[in-house]
Amino acid sequence: MRKKIVAGNWKMNKSWPEAQALVHALIEKKAMIPAGVQVIIAPPAPYLQPLSVAAAPAIAVAAQNCSQHDSGAYTGEISSVMLASMHVNICIIGHSERRQFYGENNEIIRTKVDACLRNAITPIFCCGELLAERNAGEHFTTVAAQVKDALFHLSAEEVSKVVIAYEPVWAIGTGVTASNEQAEEMHAFIRAFVSKNYNQDVADSISILYGGSVNAANAAELFACPNVDGGLVGGASLKADDFMTIIQAAQ
Ligand code: PEP
Repeated sequence: MRKKIVAGNWKMNKSWPEAQALVHALIEKKAMIPAGVQVIIAPPAPYLQPLSVAAAPAIAVAAQNCSQHDSGAYTGEISSVMLASMHVNICIIGHSERRQFYGENNEIIRTKVDACLRNAITPIFCCGELLAERNAGEHFTTVAAQVKDALFHLSAEEVSKVVIAYEPVWAIGTGVTASNEQAEEMHAFIRAFVSKNYNQDVADSISILYGGSVNAANAAELFACPNVDGGLVGGASLKADDFMTIIQAAQ
């Protein structure tokens, strides 16, 4: 069953005291979270365990990335086995910044999705086209290839556990948001693509989030689009008031 989700990606922001203060401010407002909206924050890795305790049960905590390997000689990496053992059960996979700065391609992202699923972690799988790809009219082809390469080897049962985040790269951190029409068109395309490869029940079970300069002013319109099931929010998730307004817009 599709559910409404608002996830905040903190990226590499906030000192530990600042992180605690932000969670404290969100928890103080937890009565404002609409019933049926799942709220997730994805803080930097060192804060995952303490913040998952501080935020529970109103707010779930997600990692921003994990290794495709379960353990071994991979200095600096964090595995999904480790996350699961710390009760962190959600992980963002394939964010465009991971693709751009850390060389993550569709093949690596596929193996990270697999690592999450074999360790009972919900992957929030990110896809989205570059500006040049949109300008060249290649946005559907690009996103289709990302979705196919990372997800379509999964069984129907497995793929139903994935959350998809459509994040056009040109909209991330730029202040330029996709129009409601652009967001809805791509979300509907992704859902139809999943339906074609699996079936309509599977497509209807997957939450597809929009990400890219979502803010307190534009969230309600974006989330009102029929195929938009909430948002993956970067900058605006760093301020409790703004993030809570966005959460309420997912109602
Ligand atoms: C993101 O980091 O996933 C994101 C969508 O960032 P922003 O909301 O700042 O564009």
